[in-house]
Amino acid sequence: MCAIFGIAGADEAAKLAYLGLHALQHRGQEGAGIATTQDAKPYVFKRQGHVGEIFSPDVMRDLPGRSAIGHTRYSTAGGNTALNLQPLVMKSALGWIAVAHNGNLVNAGEVVHRLETEGAIFQSTTDTEVFIHLMARSPHRELVPALTYALSQVQGAYSLLVLNSRQLIAARDPMGFRPLVLGDLRGSPVFASETCAFDLIGARFIREIEPGEMLVVDLDEVSRWESLRPFPKSPHKKCVFEHVYFARPDSNVFGSNVHGVRKALGRRLAKEQPVPGGEVVIPVPDSGVPAAIGFAEESGIPFDMGIIRSHYIGRTFIEPKQSIRDFGVKLKLSPIRSCVEGSRIVVVDDSLVRGTTSKKLIKHFRDAGAREVHLRISAPPTTSPCFYGIDTPTRAELPASSQSIEEIRRYIGADSLGYLSLSGLIEVASASSASGFCHACFSGEYPTAVSNK
Ligand code: AMP
Repeated sequence: MCAIFGIAGADEAAKLAYLGLHALQHRGQEGAGIATTQDAKPYVFKRQGHVGEIFSPDVMRDLPGRSAIGHTRYSTAGGNTALNLQPLVMKSALGWIAVAHNGNLVNAGEVVHRLETEGAIFQSTTDTEVFIHLMARSPHRELVPALTYALSQVQGAYSLLVLNSRQLIAARDPMGFRPLVLGDLRGSPVFASETCAFDLIGARFIREIEPGEMLVVDLDEVSRWESLRPFPKSPHKKCVFEHVYFARPDSNVFGSNVHGVRKALGRRLAKEQPVPGGEVVIPVPDSGVPAAIGFAEESGIPFDMGIIRSHYIGRTFIEPKQSIRDFGVKLKLSPIRSCVEGSRIVVVDDSLVRGTTSKKLIKHFRDAGAREVHLRISAPPTTSPCFYGIDTPTRAELPASSQSIEEIRRYIGADSLGYLSLSGLIEVASASSASGFCHACFSGEYPTAVSNK
């Protein structure tokens, strides 16, 4: 997963992009970049690491101009290398173009193969570069028709920002897998993956970029933007996992507040999977906290923060090697003995993917004296990999793809294990927005063709 941010026609555009990316850091911690334009020239700086470390005052001085796009990276397609950092900035007959992309294309492999056969030279292994090659090869010499030409050849998930010396364009794929919102900062249009970036910089939320929409801002007259819909309408397939895990709780995603949705998922979970005789509800921080609050409210079992999360290490799941991930759980989450000793505890987490976190945690809870450990997950079993931008493991690494709930319970060592139903998840997520969801990770129902199911 990644984050994107853009702003047109504002003083100190790079600093605002820096702040926006800071608020979106949870969507990707491998690296970040900002591209700006001044006097028709591009400026770009990108590095591996966290936003706060990358953009020193000296770096910011080298990012002049009143328009900027930015990106934080979390590697899905292409792997974790400096070459894959974004924005990608390249030059062609169209002039220079900067692109920042969130999502994965499902036909990138085929398109790259075709273009390489025709002589194209790719600099990175990210599917984002596909957009630039396709634009460069388009018969058009203007950015909007060239981008339309490129987007008509790709399938899958993209929330996209494209900048050149004259325009900033925001585009979202017709199914709308990934979020992208439009805001206003004192007359400057602002774009972000999530509304929490607007809250930080004081921008006003206007609306989502609609699935299938291309919104074009002319950098000479930023208050007049044009909305285009160049592609046929498609059913919406917004990623339900944004609500389950990915987005920040203070963001409104797909029309609903994430914290509110997660609490409602917890309440629904308590109805579907009660724990009679449970004595304390303990969340797996941070993403399990709202669901645990909801579970406690609904069940009447007291909530306690019976586990401490160290904030000095990154998200363990994102570490590429299993050995590091195993170690990470221990480093990251530590039970509070006085909260769990002698008790029947209900542990609530938002998802169980490989089962690494749950297995280790349950052992730690037992070591700390818990009498019984009942695990409740505020999502259905993760059965299938995501091809639209979430870093899920292969099917073989997902216990729920081949094992029953009872087998998983035994593997992780819980006294009981209960998941939310898919219908429960979709009903709760749809409560304040009518749009359709992609739930392929839980159902295996992929809304597009995918090459390596
Ligand atoms: P696992 O240990 O593999 O079962 O992963 C589940 C834990 O990782 C849960 O605590 C989730 O909050 C978290 N998680 C789930 N999906 C992801 C993801 N795509 N990236 C990072 N963390 C995740």
